[in-house]
Amino acid sequence: MKPVLFDFTDTELEKFVVDLGQPRFRAKQIREWLLRGAPDFESMKNVPEKLRKQLDDVAQTLPVHITTKLESSDGQTTKFLLELGDCEQIECVLMRTSYGNSVCVSSQAGCAMGCKFCASTLLGLKRNLTVNEMLSQVLVAQWTLRNNTQEKSIRPNGDANNNDVSHIVIMGTGEPLQNTENVIGFIERANSDMGIGWRHITVSTCGIVPGIKRLIEWGRPINLAISLHAPTDELRSTIMPINNKYKISEVLSAADEFTNLHNRQLMIEYILLGRKNADGETELYNATPEYATMLSKLLHGKNCMVNLIPWNTVDERDFASISGNAVHRFQDILIKNGIHTRIRRERGTDIGSACGQLRLKHKRQG
Ligand code: SAH
Repeated sequence: MKPVLFDFTDTELEKFVVDLGQPRFRAKQIREWLLRGAPDFESMKNVPEKLRKQLDDVAQTLPVHITTKLESSDGQTTKFLLELGDCEQIECVLMRTSYGNSVCVSSQAGCAMGCKFCASTLLGLKRNLTVNEMLSQVLVAQWTLRNNTQEKSIRPNGDANNNDVSHIVIMGTGEPLQNTENVIGFIERANSDMGIGWRHITVSTCGIVPGIKRLIEWGRPINLAISLHAPTDELRSTIMPINNKYKISEVLSAADEFTNLHNRQLMIEYILLGRKNADGETELYNATPEYATMLSKLLHGKNCMVNLIPWNTVDERDFASISGNAVHRFQDILIKNGIHTRIRRERGTDIGSACGQLRLKHKRQG
């Protein structure tokens, strides 16, 4: 396999270009291109063509390369399927929103958590991603924003000028707090190398308590999202095996400690699930009015925002999506009880943008 230049330190990169008979300053030029997300040497315009060809023969730029790139019909969501050095596939998603350009980053190839509604975990965990593999996902998105922005790829507020990634959510495939040190290393670099503010970065976890404690110790004021999906341990354990290890009360108290430390609003994610009964009708699963009331009680008095997420259908899974009316009924109960809530807009469902679906499809076909 050709060496990945993005993985080199500055000194290693200098040595590499000097060994190719080139002046030292070329290393700096190459580094700048790498930090812009240049997918190939061809794009490095101020590097002489001869050297670009030479580099192409002996090296590669980033530790990922794009195998599939899909644009949603409204031009606001781009989904990438990326291949890593060992041929593992990962997904990342670029979302152009009214508040900025947000990238949803994967933290692992596959996932070991076994949540019953999720596609990412169906084939198990392959491995943790490195700091550079996570950074490269953001760089790929950045490059696309700056270089491939088509006419239709404008943000919903009509602002086509801002072509930088401004937000990162670690909500792609994998459980970030099972890869905590690399995730921390990645966030540090996204902040220092790409200038993305702590407050624009969100880690989403199924509730790994020691991982949340580690984030507390680390001390950066990022955002924390908890994938709760149920207000009682009994219900949660039926859909999220991790709940057998860390109970809701423990998870929420660690999360409170984190958000109080930084005076941040806690994000709670709640997928609304239905299930088909014997007659083929959809019954509410975790989305009944009773559960909405229990959730309101559980979160009463907390500084939090509940993101209600309509379930994206995963064929292999036993659940069903519920009607828009049922979603609104659930939300109304939370609002009546004084809980901040919003319904997550579905994005890119036309390009299989939901949670591990593209990778799964690709693996199954491959
Ligand atoms: N492991 C982390 C981050 C990855 S999952 C976590 O659990 O938070 C990101 C979010 O997508 C989680 O809230 C997860 O529960 C949700 N999710 C998974 N599969 C989904 C599906 N089919 N439809 C909608 N949301 C889903």
